[in-house]
Amino acid sequence: MSTSINPQNLPVAVIGAGPIGLAAAAHLLARGETPVVFEAGSNVGAAIREWGHVRLFSPWRYLVDREATALLEPTGWQMPNPEDLPLGRDLVEEYLEPLAAHPEIAPTLRLHTEVLSISRRGHDKMKDADRAEAPFVLRVRCPDGAEDEILARAVVDASGTWRTPNPLGASGVSALGESAASDHVTYGIPDVLGTSRERYAGKNVLVVGSGHSAFNVLLDLAALPDTAITWVVRRANAGQLFGGEQNDALPARGALGARARALVDSGAVHLVSMRVARLQSAPERLLVSGDDGETIGPFDEIIAATGFRPNLEITRELRLGLDTATEAPTALAPLIDPNVHSCGTVPPHGADELKHPEPNFFTVGMKSYGRAPTFLTLTGYEQVRSVVAALVGDWESAWNVELVLPETGVCSTGAGTGGSCGSARDESTTASLVSEAELLVAAPRSAPVLARVGGGSDELAVAQGTACCSAVAQTTCCENSAKDACCGTTGTTTSSTCGCQ
Ligand SMILES: Cc1cc2nc3c(=O)[nH]c(=O)nc-3n(C[C@H](O)[C@H](O)[C@H](O)COP(=O)(O)OP(=O)(O)OC[C@H]3O[C@@H](n4cnc5c(N)ncnc54)[C@H](O)[C@@H]3O)c2cc1C
Repeated sequence: MSTSINPQNLPVAVIGAGPIGLAAAAHLLARGETPVVFEAGSNVGAAIREWGHVRLFSPWRYLVDREATALLEPTGWQMPNPEDLPLGRDLVEEYLEPLAAHPEIAPTLRLHTEVLSISRRGHDKMKDADRAEAPFVLRVRCPDGAEDEILARAVVDASGTWRTPNPLGASGVSALGESAASDHVTYGIPDVLGTSRERYAGKNVLVVGSGHSAFNVLLDLAALPDTAITWVVRRANAGQLFGGEQNDALPARGALGARARALVDSGAVHLVSMRVARLQSAPERLLVSGDDGETIGPFDEIIAATGFRPNLEITRELRLGLDTATEAPTALAPLIDPNVHSCGTVPPHGADELKHPEPNFFTVGMKSYGRAPTFLTLTGYEQVRSVVAALVGDWESAWNVELVLPETGVCSTGAGTGGSCGSARDESTTASLVSEAELLVAAPRSAPVLARVGGGSDELAVAQGTACCSAVAQTTCCENSAKDACCGTTGTTTSSTCGCQ
């Protein structure tokens, strides 16, 4: 006979002591709950420390949580200048560390403790009976390497996606030869101008992937002497590769794209459209081939800025409702899926959109977006406010979500039908538009040249073939209902630079 346990006496487990996990702890404390926060790293903000050299594009005022500051301010803590843009390490040292040291938060932290799996006590995924009443069991690896099990009444998974980067392979699995080449491949955003300087200075370096991580890497590499930089992107058309630039509501985020464009225009970065399929070693260097057989290189080093995906292994025994494409919670996915929505903002959302078929389990923070980009900390803070309200039964507060996010200025997508913005992913439309895509081919160290080819798959080419979803077109051709599909609820975008007004 198993001992009966009243789940209500158990703590709420929070996985991850990043900004969102720590904010969840602050909200739980404010509601009289007992959080226990598991952090795999040896200190809080472990993921951010790995990109501590990167300057955030959000100013401080967008980076701190309300309940967390309510805890901190009585201790004499002061937010740095709200308009300053911190480095990742500033965010850790000037905000997360003081929060972690707070006498109410500190006892909740289990550092160097990795969550290996989450399940329901005595229930595998198949078992229905009394499932909702069964406490959660978290299998954890303790600091001494031993494994232990901890019971919880609810779980808030804020474990981010940093530890599970996407591979180089354009098809979503590792390129052939990728693992064998691991000595020369770095995932994420290496500290090119600091600790990794020697690795990249004077070398022939390939950067793969688009987005703000790639921009950061390219800008740093370009500051090194005698470093040759090639940049591979999957998309066939430069189009909005550089983001919203001057239309971005976060000027620093827009500037990253604009500066990356200048590097390409000047020839400092050689831009190539390729769907990476294979890596081959050419003694001490690497050749990289696309799925059309074209080969480039040899390169000394490769940096994969290919984005991230959620670790779904730890939740395998739970009943999750995940979108098939983004791997985000089903109700959230249409709001963030770059195939059907952009502008870099989302309608406010909370517990309702984040919940799963598994009662009392929520995915929040970076991980809640699954594979979709453009997550902002501000989103995560509102998520945990709502989720914690739901966990204590205050659904009125949980439903009352209010948040207006700064847009990227890119309303780039929406694989719609018949020239409408469209609200659903439409593979057939995608295919027909893509067949007329323009492929961007670049000659070494020269500005990109456009050549027309048939075939090729690229989301941006689709966007450009979609009549009403470009930033300019949206100001004129969409019905309000269609604008909603592209840009989210129009009520949240009244100051939109993307035309969704
Ligand atoms: C380079 C970069 C720049 C960014 N700039 C901005 C910006 O300017 N503005 C903005 O709003 N957003 C920005 N973001 C996006 C986002 O806000 C950050 O990624 C933020 O750190 C996400 O917070 P999080 O708490 O969800 O996840 P994370 O900060 O990734 O924290 C997750 C934590 O969980 C831990 N963990 C993971 N797995 C386990 C496990 N199994 N068990 C226990 N612990 C685990 C990790 O060690 C980590 O400490 C940026 C992201 C990146 C990568």
